[in-house]
Amino acid sequence: MLVENGRIAALGSRDEVPAQRGVDDVDLGEGWAVPGLIEPHGHPSEAAVQLSDAVVDIRPVVIGTADGVWQRIRAALAAGPERVLANGWDPLLQRGLAAPTIRDLDALAGDTPLVIVHNSGHSLYFNTAAAREAGIDRDTPDPAGASFGRDASGELDGVALEAAAVFRVAGPAMQAAEARLPELMASYLGGLRRSGITTVGDLSWSRPLDAVIRGLQESGSLSVRLRTYEMSKPGGRPGVELRNGDARLRQVGVKVWSDGSPWVGNIATSFPYLDTPATRALGLGPHHVGRANYTTDQLIEIGGQYAGDGWQLACHSHGDVAIDSTLDAYEELIGRFGLGDHRFRVEHCGLMTPEQFRRASRLGVTVSLFVDHITYWGDVLVDDLFGPRGAAWADAGAAFAAGHRATFHNDGTVTPCEPLRNMAVAETRTSRTGRHLDGGTPAARADTLRAHTANAAWQLRSEHEIGALSPGLYADFTVLDVDPRAVGPEALASGRVLATAVDGVLE
Ligand SMILES: [Zn+2]
Repeated sequence: MLVENGRIAALGSRDEVPAQRGVDDVDLGEGWAVPGLIEPHGHPSEAAVQLSDAVVDIRPVVIGTADGVWQRIRAALAAGPERVLANGWDPLLQRGLAAPTIRDLDALAGDTPLVIVHNSGHSLYFNTAAAREAGIDRDTPDPAGASFGRDASGELDGVALEAAAVFRVAGPAMQAAEARLPELMASYLGGLRRSGITTVGDLSWSRPLDAVIRGLQESGSLSVRLRTYEMSKPGGRPGVELRNGDARLRQVGVKVWSDGSPWVGNIATSFPYLDTPATRALGLGPHHVGRANYTTDQLIEIGGQYAGDGWQLACHSHGDVAIDSTLDAYEELIGRFGLGDHRFRVEHCGLMTPEQFRRASRLGVTVSLFVDHITYWGDVLVDDLFGPRGAAWADAGAAFAAGHRATFHNDGTVTPCEPLRNMAVAETRTSRTGRHLDGGTPAARADTLRAHTANAAWQLRSEHEIGALSPGLYADFTVLDVDPRAVGPEALASGRVLATAVDGVLE
């Protein structure tokens, strides 16, 4: 590969691309170069804080038991900090965790603000001191699309549900870490790059982050490309021009939400959750049916504030009812504004059916699947939550069969950023315990490789810059120690990254 000014100038054998005078000759040894891997739906600005020492890490990928979770929270409190924010609660994987009441957390933490965030990021528990610090009480109204739990007398019960309420309660702890955000972001993005990622989407962007990230860019510490999605809000307007940024950093879209998290019980489905000890432990009643956080009309109204200006929308949708609602809203907006190449996205796609993938495809809507759910929650999906319907979760094969340029993602800290594992699990549909989810269609290797490269570049509206090893594009590539076209899925998942380059600069 001959690289000039950060772009690929030529590719081929030594004979075809001879060494040139005045050009550094770098021999990377033996390996397989693929286009730089892309995480099209991450949350680096949040993950940077969540994985720092400002937050107590109780994620199920780190702690497997309920006892372990409480031990870590108690140890954090015992150190006498100003406040404790723990992230990663998940009773479906950390069996035996029971939802704490605000009184339980008051008894545990006293006057120290304590906030425990669900691994999905869609809910959290808090004590009275944390409510006081966040400035919320019984008179605080519920934000749009979100809520604070209340007891029979209207007092806060220590639960916050969905983004706007979660951000409000977790705010003080996140703000305390904000002064260190440049350093934390640089460190987190550096870690992504070492794991082979060259571009990451940030699906929870907010305006104050612009200054932080520009600082990183100016000091040369923005080690991967960033494509951001500003969080929508009712009555909101885009905070930047549609044409903005550069090849390293650019806002490309706007994030909207339909429903919530399967692991909390609020995805919108046409059928009930199973009635099991696990769903009871989540606090769900018998044959609970989840509902969306926004109606179709609300989605149309919120989306319309941005889509008319040409912004790409990316909508969080899991349940089949939520997906119908999202597609209905998209269809209305496409017609209303006469949109052509809109590339509206559906995010996660847990229970999206083959027919819904086909409808999306006809609308020009694109999909990003959270296939790694199968790795960690594959057994839970079938045994505890949805029965045979759960076995069709994240049906990547159906997406590709419908003609989608589908992508995969790990969604910030929800699961580790592991693109090669995503490619493997989309193919095997097998959980980490060996359980095969036979309700969906296995994806073909050529498609799974594109999911984190060419397709992701296109989904992030960046195919003119990245996503392929081709002359004219930026020299972003990842070198693996396995041949990703030939090895079996397990060998691919455990493949090592030997080198990563952005703009042809190796790390
Ligand atoms: Zn997300």
